[in-house]
This record gives sequence, C-alpha cells and structure tokens, in this order.
Amino acid sequence: MSTDTYTALVNQPLGKKIAAALGLPQPVELRRHTPGQPLLDGLALVLGSGPAAQQVADQLLDWGVDVRRHAGAKDRFAAVVACFDAVQTPADLSDTALEVGQVMRQLGSSARVITVSADPSDATDPAARSARKGVEGLTRSLAHEMRRGGTANGLVLAGGTEMSAPGAVGALRFLLSARSAFVSGQFLTVGTSEGALPQDWDRPLAGKVAVVTGAARGIGEAIARTLHRDGATVVGVDVPAAGEQLAAVVNSIHGTSLQLDITAPDAGARILEHCRTRHGRMDLVVHNAGITRDKMLANMDAARWDSVIAVNIESQLAMNQAFLADQARDVVGDHLRIVSLASTSGIAGNRGQTNYAASKAGVIGMASASAELLAERGGTINAVAPGFIETEMTGKMPFLTREVARRMNSLSQGGRPVDVAEAISFLGSDAAGGTNGTVLRVCGQGIMGA
Ligand code: NAD
Repeated sequence: MSTDTYTALVNQPLGKKIAAALGLPQPVELRRHTPGQPLLDGLALVLGSGPAAQQVADQLLDWGVDVRRHAGAKDRFAAVVACFDAVQTPADLSDTALEVGQVMRQLGSSARVITVSADPSDATDPAARSARKGVEGLTRSLAHEMRRGGTANGLVLAGGTEMSAPGAVGALRFLLSARSAFVSGQFLTVGTSEGALPQDWDRPLAGKVAVVTGAARGIGEAIARTLHRDGATVVGVDVPAAGEQLAAVVNSIHGTSLQLDITAPDAGARILEHCRTRHGRMDLVVHNAGITRDKMLANMDAARWDSVIAVNIESQLAMNQAFLADQARDVVGDHLRIVSLASTSGIAGNRGQTNYAASKAGVIGMASASAELLAERGGTINAVAPGFIETEMTGKMPFLTREVARRMNSLSQGGRPVDVAEAISFLGSDAAGGTNGTVLRVCGQGIMGA
C-alpha cells in the first residue's frame, strides 16, 4: 500500500499551521471501524417532522446512542440525521435544511450527516418529485462542505419502504458507522422490506460462506480479511501463479483456497463444487478479480481489449449463470448475495481506459439487470465502485500524478482497501437485503463522475 506522507505531516502541529497558512488541503485521519467500538463518538441529532424522524430516534436510542431532537448551543454532534420524508414541494425543504446548517459548526471530526428521503421516481407530481430530487442536490453539496473527515450521504426509501424495514435500519447503521469512512456524497436506496438484522452487529456475516475472487492481494485480500472479521468463512480464489500468496492470506483467516482462472469455462462449476464439498453452502460471492491493460483507443490492440472484457465482465456473467442454475440449488439455496467490483472509471470514463471503463460500466449494467432474477430467490446483487484507493497499483503512479489524484475528493485523501471491503461486507449482509441492483461509490466523493 502506498503511504500518504502529506496527511501524516498536516496532522502534526507545525504541519497543520503551515497548511492552514498556505490554504492547502488538510486531510484528517478518518475514524475507521474496529470491533467493539461505539457506533458514534458522541451525540446524534435527529431533525424532521415526518414519520421517519421518530423511527430513527427510537432506533438510535435502541442502539444506546445519546439522541437529541433539538440542538443546544453547546452540544457537539457526532451525527445529524435529517429526515425529509414528508416533503411535498421544494418550499418544504427549508426548515430542516436550515436547521442542519445551524449545527454545522457543532460537528465533531469524522461526523456524519445523513438525509432520509423518499425516492423521487416514485412521485408523479412534479412538485413532489422536484422536492425529493432537491434532497439529492443538497446532500451532495453538503458533502462538499463537510470538514475534518465528515461525510454526508442519503438514505432513499423507495416503493413505500418504511424507515423501520430491516434494510433501512441496516443502511442507516452503515452510513452512521465508521465502516463508511470513505463513502461521501452517495445514496443508498432501500426498495423492499427484505433482509434481516444480525444478532451481533460486529459479526453480521456469522455462519456465512463467502467466495472472494482475486483474494491473493490488494483489495481482494482486504475483502477476505474483512469478511472473516465479520464472521464469514472465506473461500479465496486466484490464479495458480498467485497460489502461494493466496494460501498465505487464506490460511491466516482459516478459510479455504481455490486456484482458478475465472475466465475458464468451468469456473462457476468449480467454485460450486469447492463450496459443496468443503463447506456445504455458498451465501455470498464477491467478484473482485480484475485487470487493467491501459492504452489510448488509437493504440489499442485486440489482446488488451479482449482480456479486460473477458476477466472483468464476461467471466462474471458466466459464473452468475452457473450460480443461479437449478443444479446449483443444493449449495446456493436462497438469499444469495453477489457484490461486484466496478470502478469510478466505469461511471465517469478515464483517459487510456476505454476497455476497462467498458468492462466496469458493464458490471453496473449486469447488477441492475440481474437484480430481479436474484430477488425472485430472496437474494441481491450490487456493485461497488472504488475511486482512488491506496494500493500497490496506485503506489506505482508518478509522485505528482498520485498526489493530485488522491486529493481530488471531498476528504482530500485516498481511500484504503479496507474502506472498499467494509462496503462490500455491508452489501453482502442480510442487513442490506432491501438494496438491490445498485452501485455504491467508495470514493470520498471523488470529482470524477456523478
Ligand atoms: P490487484 O491487481 O492488486 O489484484 C487483483 C487480483 O485478481 C490479483 O490477485 C490477481 O492475481 C487476481 N486475478 C486477476 N485475473 C484473474 C483471473 N483471471 N482469475 C483469477 N484471479 C485473477 O487489483 P486491486 O487494485 O486490488 O483491484 C481489485 C478490484 O478492484 C479490481 O476489480 C479492480 O478493477 C477494482 N478497482 C481497483 C481500484 C484501485 O484503486 N486499486 C479502483 C477501482 C476499482
């Protein structure tokens, strides 16, 4: 992993002074998840007059959070949940929006602002839809205005889903928690009351068997370790050439390994067979393995184009088909969850990456088109799109390019592999059972893309 020396420097007293005097970015160390830590490091303020506000306040109390419905002048808040679920016209936004504004200076570091609203596309009335869309605009802008590692995200209730639905409660907890450290300016849409809450929030994957492709290193290794931490038994998959590294990762988390090129025509069948004979079940698949073969399109050859498409998307389509076939029922069962790695390049495009962006946009298409199929079986499929993540790959970028790329987001720093892994663990859990066919960006609100 590359190191971010600048962030370390500006968190020293002298470095802090110099950065402030010169108007340089001042990234802070983000609060990240460790098992057993409190959900929030302080008070939560719940605003809004619709039904969601009371439900959120009750839920937070249930989690042992110190909740306020009004801000005192001296209160310091770790989180503000602003409920806009009752807005009917754009004029209805102002009361709650301005109340949030009044407490912005009372937020601690790595604070959370979460807006709760109804899905705009469910409203046919132009005023109602514009009010709901307005919540998106204000949330994204607020995310740009957050300071000291704070984030702002939206929880969107679709199809009449109530705030009390397991998926809504699960999404609220993820967005409030330190697990979402590098997620900002994003929306989690909860469209059904499917899903279930875990007995232990520190082990949401207890008893599950999770397959992770490309688990030998990088983000895949972090995913494998995080899923294990969260209670899953991990099956790590990687190419034979990475067999030794794969074994080292998997042995350290008491999982099992399968050396396999995911582009092999029988890849899906071999994963199923491994899960059947070694574990008797398969609950979660993380399609993480991916490659880049960058070239400007003018210089692109067929080998570069085809290999990226084959590894990054065609293999996933073929494996999913195998996992959803009737013959796989004995090992897959109900509630299969699939999470696939996209990229912000697949949303915004990136110079030199036409092949990669085509494959990663393809992943987003696959997730939305497969959602119904998975839902019929009580399962879900979602994509996660990382932005700039501190990995060996980004560590090899020339110094200046890397320095610029890692500051181009609202948190002024790169994410860590574990930040991507946390989002995947959440979307792979039953607490995310109401979210299906979506893409969640883990990019610190990178300026690339939406
Ligand atoms: P990485 O190159 O460090 O690791 C990828 C792993 O996948 C390797 O262990 C590799 O051996 C394995 N793999 C490659 N082809 C395979 C195949 N045919 N069969 C089985 N295994 C195979 O990559 P990373 O940076 O950890 O990225 C992981 C995923 O995240 C990729 O899908 C990548 O596109 C995506 N992503 C990464 C970033 C980033 O900043 N690093 C940003 C956006 C998206």
